[in-house]
Amino acid sequence: MKTRLEVNIRRKIFPGTDVVAVEELMLTALPGEFVAIVGPSGAGKSTLLNIVAGLDREMDGDVQIDGQPLHAHGLISARIGFVFQEPRLMPWLTVMDNLMLVLDKSTDSVERVRHLLREVGLADIEQSFPNQLSGGMQRRVSLVRAFVMRPELLLMDEPFLSLDAPTAARLRRLLLTLWGELHPTVLFVTHHLREALALADRVLFLSSSPGRVEVGS
Ligand code: ADP
Repeated sequence: MKTRLEVNIRRKIFPGTDVVAVEELMLTALPGEFVAIVGPSGAGKSTLLNIVAGLDREMDGDVQIDGQPLHAHGLISARIGFVFQEPRLMPWLTVMDNLMLVLDKSTDSVERVRHLLREVGLADIEQSFPNQLSGGMQRRVSLVRAFVMRPELLLMDEPFLSLDAPTAARLRRLLLTLWGELHPTVLFVTHHLREALALADRVLFLSSSPGRVEVGS
């Protein structure tokens, strides 16, 4: 799997506002690289992830995957996993059905879901509904959802925010285990420098609004 990501956002202004959310933001992530992005609230971190995910196309700039535009012929040219701040599971679906939403309905897919649930210590909850699970368990399911479709590019927006320290530490270890299987290219947004240093190959700092890459290490 190889996914080189190149982002060049000359300017992003939200329609109907005159706020420049991101300006002159250039970053490259090498195939399989784990890049953390640290910056204060309002620096444009979520805006950046939404643009890279192809959810927001209203900007002056471009995003390339392996030298090709992110959007090719109306489709997104990479398998992208996205882990949000909240687990965002569908409350009316079981865990298994939540996870199958992002997959084809084959037996292989069911087996992969079961394999990953076992890996994150949730072997027995595939028929449970999200509201029967603790917050930490729901986050584990959302990690599985991001990995189950074998992402080439994984975007994570403060996924361990507001968790108690032991749960967050456990989830970070799980993330590294899952990442180690497939080595997707990762953009991991956080405002915790310690978390960024613990997880990432490289840490980029976004300045306060409008966001620009200040320092890369
Ligand atoms: P961060 O994730 O770093 O906290 P955001 O990407 O959420 O920052 O926001 C960057 C800037 O864009 C902020 O000034 C914010 O107020 C503005 N912004 C974000 N989303 C919207 C929106 N939907 N409409 C207008 N302005 C927005």
